[in-house]
Amino acid sequence: MSEKTIFGKIIDKEIPANIVYEDDRCLVFHDINPQAPVHVLVIPKKEIPTLNDLEEADDELVGYLVRIASRLAREKFDLEDGYRLVINCGPHAGQTVFHIHIHLLGGRPMGWPPWPG
Ligand code: AMP
Repeated sequence: MSEKTIFGKIIDKEIPANIVYEDDRCLVFHDINPQAPVHVLVIPKKEIPTLNDLEEADDELVGYLVRIASRLAREKFDLEDGYRLVINCGPHAGQTVFHIHIHLLGGRPMGWPPWPG
């Protein structure tokens, strides 16, 4: 068994997080280093390190996570002007925590394309 990630420890309540939503399949909490007025992370309770580890059996779970993110964006955070969902995968994308997560960002205009920086 690989070592538990920081998000695994948050799921198991071994370390604290500012949780905004939880159910049997997912957890949503505020990012510790927010990049926008709203910046929360939507994670599955199932341990999946990266997008590259997704299996067909995870299709429904991924759809569920996206729908939860969209629902919270509108119903909890009132992001009627829009929002962005981001999943980083691997070093070039800057993934630092190897437990798959969707960043929900909103509350300010965001540039496109999302580079440099
Ligand atoms: P990524 O670069 O896509 O892997 O994003 C990982 C995110 O997790 C970063 O935005 C970090 O600020 C955030 N993060 C790391 N540790 C914690 C923590 N203990 N609680 C909340 N967010 C965290």
